[in-house]
Amino acid sequence: MPAIWDLPDFDSHEAVHVFEDRKTGLKAVIAVHSTHLGPAAGGTRFWHYADSQAAITDALRLSRGMSYKNAMAGLPAGGGKAVILANPARAKPQELLDAFARAVDSLGGKYVTAQDVGMSEADMVSLSQITPHVAGLPDQGGDPGPYTARGVYLGVRAAAKHALGTVDLHDVHVAIQGVGSVGGGLARYLAEQGAKLTLADVDSKRAAELASELGGVSVAADAIMDVEADIFSPCALGAILTASTVAALKVKAVAGGANNQLATGIEGRMLSDRGILYAPDYVINAGGIINVLRHIDKADDAEINRRIDAIPVRLAAIWAESDASGATPAEVADKMAQKLIGR
Ligand code: NAD
Repeated sequence: MPAIWDLPDFDSHEAVHVFEDRKTGLKAVIAVHSTHLGPAAGGTRFWHYADSQAAITDALRLSRGMSYKNAMAGLPAGGGKAVILANPARAKPQELLDAFARAVDSLGGKYVTAQDVGMSEADMVSLSQITPHVAGLPDQGGDPGPYTARGVYLGVRAAAKHALGTVDLHDVHVAIQGVGSVGGGLARYLAEQGAKLTLADVDSKRAAELASELGGVSVAADAIMDVEADIFSPCALGAILTASTVAALKVKAVAGGANNQLATGIEGRMLSDRGILYAPDYVINAGGIINVLRHIDKADDAEINRRIDAIPVRLAAIWAESDASGATPAEVADKMAQKLIGR
């Protein structure tokens, strides 16, 4: 097994902490990618990994992603991520959570945790009994979905301006993949502006009901990326932009809330080559984390709104730089983020 420094996803992380608690069986990794802008903030993932190497790789990759996301959102926070290695039974007893909370606490605030896959709001409340370094508690703003939806809506508007040359969304056709918390909220904002909507969800009833309520249409989940529209908005799964799906897209822009939309990274170039504008996912979907981390610098509602309003401004700057330099929007965003974190 290579040393951590030699792993492909190691990116000069400031620290990678490995915890083991023999009494409770806790095995966890907390990766601190950067504290340049503030405490390393990012969620805790509870997941059954194939092996410990996969868990470390996930923590390295996700913590770097949080550095970029928090920096581009203008937050006074660095990037970190924790993973708890679930046992085959996926049991999460209280003693294990307590041991993990002590691990977070031992870092003295260098890492601030929040909810991620496999961890519930109740788990966060439980951790907060032992360590104060927990963000996104119920009394700190609650569900991030509506904040993410608003940021994505502003990003879609910015994409319409840049790719279609219009600030008026009336009759701009947006195809939305996934109408849950983020995609459903986005659909409502767009409907208010008179946009033409095509919706899809694996829960086809959910998509059909929302479409009929908002005056749009729904299609089968596996047909949404073939829809001829102005903008495709992925708001369900990651890795949906692959060589074959990009080749088949019939839109002028991709702007949506899903995390990690580019399957391998090279799809960003494929989109540019096809003349399709891309809104880098971690920039457009930052509304939720902006609210989750509100307590880091005691931001009030007006400040939260100001930060979310900055999302389309940041996107416009990325696209302008991309147009000028020939680099893809994803490449430009990564470079901007690296500069912000002093790299
Ligand atoms: P959600 O669970 O509320 O909604 C997701 C919806 O997508 C569900 O209705 C689900 O049925 C549907 N779906 C799943 N697979 C699908 C498929 N193959 N085709 C079509 N629909 C499918 O989740 P959410 O909170 O709205 O998050 C959506 C995406 O946005 C995720 O990728 C998430 O990681 C990302 N994201 C969410 C937030 C947030 O604040 N909630 C923040 C940043 C990023």
